[in-house]
Amino acid sequence: MTDLPPDLAPATVVVAAGRPPRSPGAPINPPIELSSTYAAHPATGPDGVALNLGYGRASNATWAAFEAAVGTLEGGDALCFASGMAAISAALTVLPADGPLVAPLTPYNTSGALIGEVEAAGREIRRVDVEDTVAVIAALHGARAIWLESPTNPLMQVADLPVIIAEAAARGVVVVVDNTFATPLVQQPLALGADIVVHSATKYLSGHSDLLMGVTVTRAGTPDAAPDRWYAALLAHRTRHGAIAGPFEAWLALRGIRTLHVRHERACANAAELARRLGEHPSVSRVRYPGWGAMLAIEVAGSALDAERVASACQVWLGATSLGGVESLIERRRRYPGESVLVPESLLRLSVGIEDVEDLWRDLDHALRA
Ligand SMILES: *Cc1c(COP(=O)(O)O)cnc(C)c1O
Repeated sequence: MTDLPPDLAPATVVVAAGRPPRSPGAPINPPIELSSTYAAHPATGPDGVALNLGYGRASNATWAAFEAAVGTLEGGDALCFASGMAAISAALTVLPADGPLVAPLTPYNTSGALIGEVEAAGREIRRVDVEDTVAVIAALHGARAIWLESPTNPLMQVADLPVIIAEAAARGVVVVVDNTFATPLVQQPLALGADIVVHSATKYLSGHSDLLMGVTVTRAGTPDAAPDRWYAALLAHRTRHGAIAGPFEAWLALRGIRTLHVRHERACANAAELARRLGEHPSVSRVRYPGWGAMLAIEVAGSALDAERVASACQVWLGATSLGGVESLIERRRRYPGESVLVPESLLRLSVGIEDVEDLWRDLDHALRA
């Protein structure tokens, strides 16, 4: 990988990170490395033991390029996984298992289901309203780890990450943050003291709704020190459990992240304008928007069926699940039986894309009035 000057702005990092070394005639993009195995290195370890595994379940050059880009953005070392849930499952598994886990009342629903499995296996889960900082800090007492998501999916609750992470770190509580909704362009939890950041790279990082991938990011190791313990544990988990990304997906994700900054800028500008207008719409009883980012949720003044009708009346907004792509998506979350009952029936989650904002507004306004 080519070395970059330090302290580049994120808009430059997404373009420049993860490129092959600049040797004359070399390609500027990494190859899609399709190889399950690698020619053996000379065995240089003690007793003639090979130090490098040289196998496609352990490492891949195309993964490494994408990991370099995400790692630089988050300020740590990244590992890519087969999906966001594979990364989340790995992170949950490597956490110390011997004490209470603090978790949001309404995390992303599949993360919630997985945390429920951990609970069924005997672990104490302390569920907290992540916006109630006092309650979160109280729950940290005697806890081993805290799982955070901010903003939460889909209630758009924002946790006071600087305060909560500092309080957790002071008590030796391990901190994991799902940074999918915010992206590293908005917040970098490792710099605040978090131990593990997880992403569904399916969403903003890749940005085109054409692949599934996940990432973990942990504190950067230094060449002269032992690798970060969470990095080592997550790498071992990925290699043993085998939830690895395909090289083609990793290549597409790297191609997608090249435009993360401009996509995000446009999507956030669109979201801010739509949130403002939706706040004055007679058919909308509540807008949930943190004041930044490209995700928002609205509550339709009416029933679940009315909200369904709004989603299906849209012609530009796509009625589909997922988020973080170039196209605007709209979805009533309670259509899923697994969604929390704390999510209102008439709540529509909006992933704002990069289309013309007037087209998005006209479409939504028309659907809301119909
Ligand atoms: C989508 C999502 C996930 C799961 O990621 P997959 O790539 O679908 O496995 C996890 N967390 C959040 C916040 C998400 O939005």
